[in-house]
Amino acid sequence: MDNKDLIWEKFLSIIKKRINSVGYDTWFSEAYLYSLSDEAVIVVPTITHKKHLEEKYMDIIEDIFNSITGTNFIIKLVLENEIEKKEIKLNDDLIDEEVGVPLVSYKKTNLNPDYTFENFVVGESNRFAQATALAVAESPGKMYNPLFIYGNSGLGKTHLMHAIGNYIIKTTNKRVLYTNTDDFVTEFLGLNRSFNKGNNLEKVAAFKDKYNNIDVLIIDDIQYLGNAPKSQEEFFHTFNKLFDNKKQIIISSDNSPDDLKNLEDRLKTRFNCGLKVNIFPPDNELRKKILKNKIANMNFESSISEDVIDYIANTCQSDVRNLTGALTRVCAYNTVFYQDVITLDLAIEALKGTIHNATNTTNDIVKIQRVVANYYNVTVEDLKSKRRVSTIAFPRHIAIYLSRLLTDESLIRIGMEFGGRDHTTVMSSIKKIDKDIKSNKQLAEIIEEIKKKLE
Ligand code: ADP
Ligand code: MG
Repeated sequence: MDNKDLIWEKFLSIIKKRINSVGYDTWFSEAYLYSLSDEAVIVVPTITHKKHLEEKYMDIIEDIFNSITGTNFIIKLVLENEIEKKEIKLNDDLIDEEVGVPLVSYKKTNLNPDYTFENFVVGESNRFAQATALAVAESPGKMYNPLFIYGNSGLGKTHLMHAIGNYIIKTTNKRVLYTNTDDFVTEFLGLNRSFNKGNNLEKVAAFKDKYNNIDVLIIDDIQYLGNAPKSQEEFFHTFNKLFDNKKQIIISSDNSPDDLKNLEDRLKTRFNCGLKVNIFPPDNELRKKILKNKIANMNFESSISEDVIDYIANTCQSDVRNLTGALTRVCAYNTVFYQDVITLDLAIEALKGTIHNATNTTNDIVKIQRVVANYYNVTVEDLKSKRRVSTIAFPRHIAIYLSRLLTDESLIRIGMEFGGRDHTTVMSSIKKIDKDIKSNKQLAEIIEEIKKKLE
């Protein structure tokens, strides 16, 4: 390890103690010291990291850095693609300091304390959204206002918004209010109804007060505002007042502002003037990471085999809600058929029938299995079994071949549906039938016949 690495290691060990762990993981765990000459060049992963570190952490970075090196370095943050090369040797000299975080909570926030940055698992698909959310949590009302988080249902928008709120009430004495759009609309319409009866000036004042006297407004699922023109008007005024007073506003939606239906243009313009971040469906790696994280936090007695994690991650691709729902289902199933180690067979059984909805794909493997089994007078269980007699193995090859031909499923997924077979086994079945068809006219006809039955 060279000197530069040692300095960086020391730097990390100190800053780790001076800031909280989420801040450390988000801003520093992937950064590295690239070079040291007149300036210290630190490489960071995204532009959000760069901006936020410059804005919020520069003093502490310089302070620690210079105390380690005994030199007044100018710190330069760069992205991977901006690197320049320079290096220097230095002596080390370590100073350690204590950390302190103010702890003040506030009255009714509607925040769910279970949704935090600590238990939000980060991967490629949500890294930008998470970093931006934490930047806002650390500097509310400063940089990204409003913050607009959008993406499909079940990807973690609500979780991230609560995490921002929880972070702010823990570290500042700002007043935070979380509301979802439906509640805002219901509350506002209720107000109008009693207003028409002529007796609620107090209630109106209380409503206005509530929204005007906060420092941070978190409003979830803003797409529902499209259905409520009167509430839109009220929200527009609320938004402007908060915004003009530099209060932080955080909004979520299933679509980007421009694609929101029935939303007035003046609101779209407001939403567009801050930062918009898109959150994407998790890739396989993130799905597995989330499952493992959830398992670790569940203190579940049985252990869960790696195939099961693979299986769930492969079958529940569309969103995190379904993914963790599937895990819960498997665990619940195991409390009935108790096993020390949850096996793939049990997981497949537990998720039977639910996977269809969960993945939202055109998966017809189950149907193909049924039709092929029928045609050859064997059972679906036979097709999934390990039995190798030709009267079963041959129909199995055909069912696998048709699953590949007629669905969009991956080899891995097909293997899973056929009793947890390896993808190379799946591939060899497909190759075998492919080859046989070419030399065996009768087989080609049989396949056509089965295809017709599937239509
Ligand atoms: P959305 O608001 O986008 O529909 P939610 O925030 O309600 O989605 O997320 C659905 C569920 O998935 C919640 O239980 C949430 O805690 C969980 N979840 C989503 N993303 C993550 C993540 N990256 N790490 C851990 N849990 C997550
Ligand atoms: Mg939500």
